[in-house]
Amino acid sequence: MVKNNIIVWFRNDLRVLDNPTLSKASKTDGNVIPLFILDKQLFNGARSSQNRNRFLIESLINLDNNLKKIKSRLIIAEGDPELILSEYCKKYEVSSVYISEDYTPYSIKRDNAVTNSLNKNGIQVNKFPGRLVVSNLDAIRTKTESIFKVYTPFYNNWSLIQRRQVCPIPEKINTPADIYSIELPKISDLDKKYLSPNVSLGGEDKALEIFNSFKSKNIFDYNEAHNDLPGDKTSRISPYLHFGCISALYMESSVGQSDGETAWKRQLCWRDFYNYILFNYPSNIRSEFQEKYRNLKWNNNDALLKAWQEGKTGYPIVDAAMRQLNNEGWMHNRGRLIVGSFLTKDLFIDWRKGEDYFQKMLIDGDISNNNGNWQWIASVGVDPAPVFRRIFNPTLQQEKFDPDGVYIKKYVPELKNVPLKYLGDPSLMPNDVQEESGCKIGKDYPFPIINHSEARKMTLEEFSRV
Ligand SMILES: Cc1cc2nc3c(=O)[nH]c(=O)nc-3n(C[C@H](O)[C@H](O)[C@H](O)COP(=O)(O)OP(=O)(O)OC[C@H]3O[C@@H](n4cnc5c(N)ncnc54)[C@H](O)[C@@H]3O)c2cc1C
Repeated sequence: MVKNNIIVWFRNDLRVLDNPTLSKASKTDGNVIPLFILDKQLFNGARSSQNRNRFLIESLINLDNNLKKIKSRLIIAEGDPELILSEYCKKYEVSSVYISEDYTPYSIKRDNAVTNSLNKNGIQVNKFPGRLVVSNLDAIRTKTESIFKVYTPFYNNWSLIQRRQVCPIPEKINTPADIYSIELPKISDLDKKYLSPNVSLGGEDKALEIFNSFKSKNIFDYNEAHNDLPGDKTSRISPYLHFGCISALYMESSVGQSDGETAWKRQLCWRDFYNYILFNYPSNIRSEFQEKYRNLKWNNNDALLKAWQEGKTGYPIVDAAMRQLNNEGWMHNRGRLIVGSFLTKDLFIDWRKGEDYFQKMLIDGDISNNNGNWQWIASVGVDPAPVFRRIFNPTLQQEKFDPDGVYIKKYVPELKNVPLKYLGDPSLMPNDVQEESGCKIGKDYPFPIINHSEARKMTLEEFSRV
């Protein structure tokens, strides 16, 4: 009798609840090998992140625990996925490899290479949905069968798409005892240089805890409160979504129809939208979606870039947000918009440099979301709007979204005693106020590195030149 042994190759789907790939595999009459392959390209490559590596290790430990509850466990291997999979398939008489669909150019290329190589040896590769709220990106087309490039019509279409059933946790997975597994890397061995001190814990259990708490409280205020920087009332579920510790569809199906809940579900659609855009336009990974903006003459000033990265621009709201990123490996969405506008419109530094730094630091650093949002804020991507609408005045942003300076004072302690009326631009403080607040401009806190009104004018000129 042929054995239907299956490998479930985990990647960005590190969960047991609503994991269609695992759920389908659990129904085999053979054995199941839940396998995670540490891919050096992702773990140590140019776009890797120590914050995400730590989060990944924690998520894998938690997945192993959750698999043990259903009589299985996580097998770890390290190396080139193509070689590892073919070795494991041969050694353990595996007839199929099950994977959850992934949509970035890198993962599509990798999955195609693996599929071709395994197929040559008679092994099937079966793909299942689970990454996004909707299951089939190919099905989303305008009335003229083209790709949506504007968000709202995409959202209207997306809202009407039939959802798949949520999959319960399998009752039992049959994993033999003698499968070879290596140890996970130790968190203490990670390079400390880019490890942020206050990063949240990875894993499915933590994801469910965060989501359940959000869904019972803050979600109801989401409409009014999602831009409130000190309030910090968004879900903070993004890193868990990135690693698939929680399912977007499971969350969508678990919340109701109140204004706050509906507004929050609409945010989940942005994630599907940017996956859809990069899936359909893979060249966006390095080039502007709008061809006319591929010749902008960006400013190559490394000192300005460094000041932005370190949160030392002299604009408190920008600096607070960048320091939140450096400290927590995460930043509030309003902060991301402010620092994104500041880098690309005030400093006129190439959006790719901002995207790279975010990718290095963010625990939710996600190729599709990061790329889509950077192109959006730089005004070079899909969902276009006139450039001036996406140039934010940092001082006004502070007045609107951190009116009492609570967020600023939390992340920029040297401004702790600066009076509120100077928090938009501390360089306006008279000398005696600087003395009293213990914050000497140029010594304790920098002068603004750029003049916002002049920078705005030059940016608009450069956009109209091209
Ligand atoms: C310049 C810039 C870069 C960004 N880079 C990333 C990134 O690398 N990874 C990432 O997940 N998000 C990114 N975002 C989007 C957004 O800032 C984060 O998803 C959000 O702040 C995460 O916090 P939350 O989970 O509390 O969000 P909530 O407000 O609770 O929203 C719930 C979920 O909806 C999705 N979502 C919300 N807003 C967006 C958006 N604008 N685009 C795509 N999905 C969205 C996220 O999955 C989020 O977790 C970026 C935004 C900007 C402006």
